[in-house]
Amino acid sequence: MADPIVFSGSPLDRADPRRRQPDWLHARLADEETRVLPVWRGNVLVRETDGAPRLAWATPEVCVEGGPEPVFLGIADDRAHFAADLSPLADPVDERGWQDVASFPELRAIAGQLSPGDAAIAAQARHVVDWHVRHAFCAACGSASRPKDGGWARLCADAACAAEHFPRTDPVVIMLVVDGDRCLLGRGSGWPHPFHSALAGFVEPGETLEEAVAREVEEEAGLQIERVRYLASQPWPFPASLMMGCTAQARTTEIEIDRDELDAADWFTRDEVRAALAGPTERLAVPPPMAIAHHLIRWFADGGDAE
Ligand SMILES: [Zn+2]
Repeated sequence: MADPIVFSGSPLDRADPRRRQPDWLHARLADEETRVLPVWRGNVLVRETDGAPRLAWATPEVCVEGGPEPVFLGIADDRAHFAADLSPLADPVDERGWQDVASFPELRAIAGQLSPGDAAIAAQARHVVDWHVRHAFCAACGSASRPKDGGWARLCADAACAAEHFPRTDPVVIMLVVDGDRCLLGRGSGWPHPFHSALAGFVEPGETLEEAVAREVEEEAGLQIERVRYLASQPWPFPASLMMGCTAQARTTEIEIDRDELDAADWFTRDEVRAALAGPTERLAVPPPMAIAHHLIRWFADGGDAE
């Protein structure tokens, strides 16, 4: 992989042992040196610096009184870093006086413009804050639950249950199927022509990555494959996926698409893919560099071979 995968490469030391030291966490949240990243309804606070978005760090007083507990993200430059969910506020930009200074743009739209480190921190913050929003109640007994370990677990408030819950990450396989000098790309339901990407799907319970790749390709495109190889992965916090990029060799080539999943799927030659990477062609447009599919497609364009 020549370019960094967007959302990878966080500069923070996650400092796991610190998560279980409530006194240390408490002291950090009283420390003006601590950096707090505001998150509001799924997006992080950014400011424009030299024409590019950058994370806009605040101090602990930004947290909502009596609101969600800040999540400990890690340590860098000897300073603790937290994410604070400001979602209870109707308009935090206005209430915190950030007009003309910073805003909460859609993360998916700006991630490719953030520095690699900023994008990785944004992904971590969004993913774990969103998990808390969705898991206010114990999945075992239905009682309220509360955060513990700096936000890296939740504990059921019912002492008789006391179940612990941990942030979930959902594995997704995304795969480029290769047949000699051509690769398989599909157009998802409702995508505009000529946009195509690698096929993808959630790994199911009791499946290996290799089995999930083979099942998804068979379900979506009616093809048999072999030689599944892992290439690279990408955190994808929309809301909680880990994309696992794979390649596979086609064993059959007759495409039969699942119309519920795809509007189209076809074989594209290496030359067609190379042209599309330089800009959309009449037949093919490919995902932008922030998507791991782009990296899989580039791997193939650069001569990658699934043999
Ligand atoms: Zn419970």
